[in-house]
Parts: sequence; C-alpha cells; structure tokens
Amino acid sequence: MRIGSGYDVHRLGEGRDLILGGVKIPYEKGLIGHSDADVLTHAIMDALLGAAALGDIGKLFPDTDPAYKGIDSMLLLKKVGEAIGKEGYLIENIDSTVIAQEPKLRPYIDTMRERLAEALELSVDQVSVKATTEEHMGFTGSGEGMAAQAVCMLSSVREAYSVDVTAAGACTGCGPEGCPMRK
Ligand code: MG
Repeated sequence: MRIGSGYDVHRLGEGRDLILGGVKIPYEKGLIGHSDADVLTHAIMDALLGAAALGDIGKLFPDTDPAYKGIDSMLLLKKVGEAIGKEGYLIENIDSTVIAQEPKLRPYIDTMRERLAEALELSVDQVSVKATTEEHMGFTGSGEGMAAQAVCMLSSVREAYSVDVTAAGACTGCGPEGCPMRK
C-alpha cells in the first residue's frame, strides 16, 4: 500500500465560476487560476500523484502551457487516473476536505463525490469529500481564498490478488483505461 497527500489553495475573485469537485456551485465569486481553479480536484490529483511518486500537477500540467488555460480539471483528473493505472496501481480510497468560509457546501458534496468517482472509474464509496470552515480566521475565513486537502491510498495490482496475475501470465499490463483485471 502507498499513501499520498495533496494540498492546494486558490484566491477568490469576481467574475469567475466556482467549481469544486467538478460541480459548479452558485456563489457571488469564483476561484482564480490558469485552469478552472477547482481547488478540491487539484488537491486530489496531487495526492494521487504523490502516492505513485509521479511528481505533482505542476509537473504534468504546467500553468505556463496555454493548452491548460481554462481547462476542466476533471479532464486532468482522468489523465492522472490513467497515469496511476499505467504504473500498475489501483486507487483504494480518497479522503478530502474543502476549507471555505462560505458558501455552504453540504448540498453539493454527494454530487462532487459522484463526479470525482466517475472520472477515476471508482465507486462513490471510495471517494470522501468533507467541508469545514476556519471560523472566520485566516485567508479562508476572510473569504480571500479557499483551500483543500486530500489523502489517498493506492495498492499495486499484485497486492490486489491472492494469485500473482503477472507470474500466472494472466496480466497483459495496464492500458490507458487502468487495470483490465479489475473490471
Ligand atoms: Mg491549483
């Protein structure tokens, strides 16, 4: 098993959509960034990449690259999921926390979990999203920005089966869709 952690922060500003976990949330401000600035999805991607020791999202998707300007972070999350699968890892679970003073996120949490699970081809019960405030303290408390933290666990394909499918000749390697043995 391997563990990963991710953390991200984005500034809030006028004239931007607020996207968290792939869900557009009605609010007077949105997060500012080169991509859609989905701070939750960015923290989750960094947790996954960290667990596989594949670097971070800045390495994979540089914010100086115009290809990623305004991009839907769910597309990037799918690419991260594919990269994890190619390395022979399975995602066991993800836990995450959005830190924001407002708006209230409870009504959107389950939809975020569904969107994140769908992008990674996981079941919803493998993806946890929580939300908290920092009691009006600091940059999240003042509404200057939002933060997100995430952790995840990965197992290798070999760990997932009592029989070593590689040794048994049954494993043909993980393609871009991830492990075919898992489907
Ligand atoms: Mg970010």
